[in-house]
Amino acid sequence: MERLYAPWRIEYVVGKKKEPGCIFCAKPAAAEDDKNLIVHRARGAFGMMNKYPYNNGHLLVSPYRHVSDLCDLSAEENALLIQEVCRAITVIREVMKAEGFNVGLNLGVEAGAGIEEHLHYHVVPRWRGDTNVMPVLADVRVIPEHFLETSRKLRAGFQRLFPPSEREART
Ligand SMILES: [Zn+2]
Repeated sequence: MERLYAPWRIEYVVGKKKEPGCIFCAKPAAAEDDKNLIVHRARGAFGMMNKYPYNNGHLLVSPYRHVSDLCDLSAEENALLIQEVCRAITVIREVMKAEGFNVGLNLGVEAGAGIEEHLHYHVVPRWRGDTNVMPVLADVRVIPEHFLETSRKLRAGFQRLFPPSEREART
């Protein structure tokens, strides 16, 4: 697996400062969605760019509530979370012309979770020929477009397709 071009990842390696606290709690609590790469806020759940993406447009969709186990969410919380996952798929398909998706959840470090204490769905867009054997949720690959640009496009897509009545949601 070769890493060809991923400057943000280098920044991460060089900086190497572990962010204190839980990013899935801290980032939506701050009023800096652009900087924090939050592309959409809905009731119950929000969507954020993955800073260490497996493919361009890779989003993380998470409940606001700090919960590690999917089975600890209420039926309503699960419904709101899945609704936001579906919105992410809809927006990425529309804005980036994605041809397929890998959608997944890693529960527990042994299952590959980077941040196991706050569950988050991975929504990874796929295109024909993006790779033959991409080990999804395993290692970074070629990212052809800087994610700040992608983040702007996706935020605009969410605002257009899912108008901002819920944009300020925090719970
Ligand atoms: Zn949390």
